[in-house]
Amino acid sequence: MTCMVDMRDTICIYCHQKDKVILRGKRKNKYTVKQQYWCRRCGRYFVERDGFEGTTYPPDVITKALQLYAEGMPLNRIRDYIYQHKGYCIYDGTILYWVEKYRDLLSQAERAARPLIKKVKKTRHNRL
Ligand SMILES: [Zn+2]
Repeated sequence: MTCMVDMRDTICIYCHQKDKVILRGKRKNKYTVKQQYWCRRCGRYFVERDGFEGTTYPPDVITKALQLYAEGMPLNRIRDYIYQHKGYCIYDGTILYWVEKYRDLLSQAERAARPLIKKVKKTRHNRL
């Protein structure tokens, strides 16, 4: 799939500047190919991390992903759905991280006949 990480949400790991980070090719090691980034503000390179570090997603993206997960949708389809409907590229690991983190919300969602979760918007789940 043609899912690109939203660069607006990539934060420089050194100076924590948003909006200054650009893609600079891939860096390979033995096992993985990681996207390499370059920060125009401080001029340093770094590679992507596990998907949720340094990246923020709106609460409605998270709740939607959890809702779909609760409905039994496979991770790769959740990813596609979020990308198509919300414009965010998320990693499987990110979804599982949310599932872990918001387990209580998720079990509420599983119990509830209808979806979801207005509550999350009032709480501090913006920062991941
Ligand atoms: Zn920087």
